[in-house]
Order: sequence, then structure tokens, then C-alpha cells
Amino acid sequence: MLLELRDIEKTFKDNQVLKGIDLTVEQGEVVAIIGPSGSGKTTLLRNINFLETANSGSMTFRDQNIDMARPSKEQILWTRRHMAMVFQNYNLFKNKTALENISEGLVFGQNMAKKEADSLAEIALDQVGLLDKKDFYPSQLSGGQQQRIGIARATVLNPDIILFDEPTSALDPELVGTVLRDMKQLAEQGQTMIVVTHQMSFARDVADRVMFFADGEILEQGDADEIFDHPKNDRTKQFLSAIA
Ligand code: ADP
Repeated sequence: MLLELRDIEKTFKDNQVLKGIDLTVEQGEVVAIIGPSGSGKTTLLRNINFLETANSGSMTFRDQNIDMARPSKEQILWTRRHMAMVFQNYNLFKNKTALENISEGLVFGQNMAKKEADSLAEIALDQVGLLDKKDFYPSQLSGGQQQRIGIARATVLNPDIILFDEPTSALDPELVGTVLRDMKQLAEQGQTMIVVTHQMSFARDVADRVMFFADGEILEQGDADEIFDHPKNDRTKQFLSAIA
């Protein structure tokens, strides 16, 4: 087991957004989280890497036990060194080139020498087919290219797990496929990942396990066949028939 979350709760004022989430992820597993907007999926990912702090719950990540409501600074930094996130809106630095966006985390997060960081960043850029764009700024790139740089920025850190937060939902439809192909390739290389997605075909095709998330809870989980072809929960059935 690589990651285990126990009973994560998160409340914004009087709005309870996570109602006791238990989740385990094995090494090499691809977990897709599907479900209606506003149900807490993004909040869950943001709690896992401490962009938000949970009200209660605990996490075991590798060999570290962390109280999610009271993580130490060291635990937060340690977690972020071993876990990367890919955001819906890419979150690239606008005043940095593609290459700098990728090498930055190595130089500042891992104290790597700039030359070495740049050469690893070039390899990561090459893997997403964008080495020729290394000196381009985000504004000079398409959304799909920016997101692939977001993916290269995550992979260059060699993380144990990558959290993807609806990575294709801001993209024009014709650009979605390029990003999904990069993600599929990563999955095939054995990268452990949790992917919040509206791309049902990706979840069906790539995920080892699919979770249906609604109203702050995981209502149902199973392999893709179980969830898409034989859903048991009425909410899952309703959701799938509404998007079909
Ligand atoms: P999803 O990713 O499933 O669309 P979110 O996690 O983005 O859902 O949001 C779940 C709920 O939490 C929504 O009601 C949203 O308004 C609320 N929420 C998310 N972030 C914040 C925040 N920083 N402050 C207050 N409410 C928030």
C-alpha cells in the first residue's frame, strides 16, 4: 500500500465538503474519481497534499503516519517532495519559460544544481513531445501544450504519486486527446496516480479502480466494468445515465 487515507473530514464554515473519506492506493495503481461538480473531489486532492488542511483524519503515505489536521512543516514538505499535482488550469508561472517551469521544482524544492535540473527538465519535455518549445512562455503555448508542461513538471520530480485534478477540463475538445495520451503513457510506465476526471472513456480505459464520489463521500468503487456496466448505487446509475 502506498497511500492510505482514514476518515478525512473537511468543513468550510458550515459546509461539510468531505464526510469521512477512506481511500487506499497501491503502488502502481491508477485510481479515477468521477462524480458531479461541487461534490468535493478537488477538495479531497487539495487535502492530500496540504493545499488545504483537513478538520480531522489521518494519512499513511509510504512509511509516514500523518495527522491530516495537524501536519508538521516537515511532514508537509516531505509529502510534497514525494507527491506531485497537475492542476485544472495548469498553474504555470507566466514569466518563466517551459523549461524553467519544469526545472524550478528541482532547483528550489530539491536543491539540485541548475545545470542538472535543466537537463532533467529537457528529458521530461521530450517525453511530452515539447522539447522544441523549451524557451516558450506559457502565453505562447496552447492549453494542451501548457498542460503537458504541467505533466512534465510533475514527472520530473519522480514522485511516488501524481494527483491529477480534472487535467483536461479547461481544454478545447481537440486538445484533450494529446493530454490523455501522455497520462495513459505514464500509467503504462507504472506511475501511481489519482485522477479526478470527467473523461469517462479515460477512466474506463486506463483506471485500475474507479470511485464514484458524491456529496462528500465515496458512494461506490470497483473496477471500470463494475462501475460503468454494473453500477449498484442509484446515485451512480443516475450520474452515468445523465452524462451518457
Ligand atoms: P468538485 O471538485 O467535486 O467539483 P470542490 O471540491 O471543488 O468539488 O467543491 C466542493 C464544495 O466545497 C463546493 O461547495 C465548494 O463551493 C466548496 N469549496 C471548495 N473550496 C472552498 C473554499 N476554499 N472555501 C469555501 N468553500 C469551498
